[in-house]
Amino acid sequence: ELRNANEPEFLQSVFEVAESIIPFAEEHPKYKKHKILERIAEPERAIIFRVPWLNDEGEVEINRGFRVQMNSAIGPYKGGLRFHPSVNLGVLKFLAFEQVFKNSLTGLPMGGGKGGSDFNPRDKSDNEVMKFCQSFMTELYRHVGPDIDVPAGDIGVGAREIGFMFGQYKRIKGEFTGVLTGKGHEWGGSLIRPEATGYGVVYFAQQMLHTRGDSMEGKTVIISGSGNVAQYTAEKCIEVGATVLTMSDSEGYIYDPAGIDKEKLAYIMELKNVRRGRIREYALKYGCEFFEGQKPWNVKCDVAFPNATQNELDGIDAQTLVDNGCFCVAEGANMPSTPEAIHVFEQTRILYAPGKAANAGGVAVSGLEMSQNSLRYSWSREKIDSKLKLIIEQIHHVCVKYGRIDKDYINYEKGANIAGFVKVADAMIAQGVV
Ligand code: NDP
Repeated sequence: ELRNANEPEFLQSVFEVAESIIPFAEEHPKYKKHKILERIAEPERAIIFRVPWLNDEGEVEINRGFRVQMNSAIGPYKGGLRFHPSVNLGVLKFLAFEQVFKNSLTGLPMGGGKGGSDFNPRDKSDNEVMKFCQSFMTELYRHVGPDIDVPAGDIGVGAREIGFMFGQYKRIKGEFTGVLTGKGHEWGGSLIRPEATGYGVVYFAQQMLHTRGDSMEGKTVIISGSGNVAQYTAEKCIEVGATVLTMSDSEGYIYDPAGIDKEKLAYIMELKNVRRGRIREYALKYGCEFFEGQKPWNVKCDVAFPNATQNELDGIDAQTLVDNGCFCVAEGANMPSTPEAIHVFEQTRILYAPGKAANAGGVAVSGLEMSQNSLRYSWSREKIDSKLKLIIEQIHHVCVKYGRIDKDYINYEKGANIAGFVKVADAMIAQGVV
């Protein structure tokens, strides 16, 4: 704890996992003997580098770049790049740590990593974003590769940024390889990758509801965020007959009592992905309310999807959700619920799935993108969507296996932590003290 005292998010994620793993390791002494928990919480390496670039005024700007290579016991490092002013080493260590368990849960051979920069792509021109991405990759290229470390997108890194970084990698190395996932379909990207995280979160919620003989059809839903994960969560919810009441960004949330339908969602996608505008414009266009500076957690709903960022839902928000009748929470974001919020969900025994289980669909399809790149082949939408569904079902299955408390209650957090841990821990033991 002392060693990482200035990294609160990292400590939070390690404590959350340790709570499940310590009792499990008591029952299975080999994990204690080999000090797996102590080793798994230390990155194999963390790289920090300068990212200088020229803005449109010709001035020099300097950002800090990072790549945390957390664990490679079961495959090359894999995990997204985040560009956001809040990025620092502690945030990326928490994300990389979560990624190790998530990637293990997918059943695919991927280790865990995460990276990014404190660069803020918002308010930057395309030209500035390109210059930044090229400078970022000019250092990162030394540390990544299709068999070493394969980054993807995350907050602030979408198709545009992946394109610029891929172009620079190819230019420096002189080879066309699957060094990044989330690429455009015409140049090696997988179908369904943009949709995968959001669709997967809804597939996971469906699995949880099935355990209670229920389904998503007819449910009221609230979503936070309006980025990649939020958009495709909304798309799938609409498709399965649920009513999406809210979406948000860092300025506030919109509440549409009539429901965000397909056409309104198309407007949001154009607003956010093409015009790079603010969600408040939705309220003006469709004549509904915008709640400045607020989060949507006091809106009455059946199912909630926190899909923006870490620690966006606290204990009071969780109690409000439950008091208003919400009985299912599936996390699209990484660690959006604080420890107090998770405590409320567990005490009230509602259906609650942590991000490492519920949002693993994104990295799963990234893994499938790696396979397609290695094969130099492209699978159909149907094939990938059915593989995604199957992977989510399997993750749900192992969460139930390790997380069942009694006949009426499954602790998905405990199940995901233990199931993710076992595979990595056994590989670490087999590979010796490295
Ligand atoms: P995007 O950048 O596409 O969207 C992020 C959304 O969250 C935006 O609406 C943004 O609002 C909002 N947001 C970001 N930071 C904050 C903040 N500090 N406070 C309030 N709102 C904020 O990112 P993604 O949709 O890709 O990622 C969302 C979450 O999902 C993250 O936790 C990410 O780690 C996780 N995730 C993403 C995966 C993926 O495949 N993309 C896979 C698994 C997890 P604004 O526009 O105002 O900044």
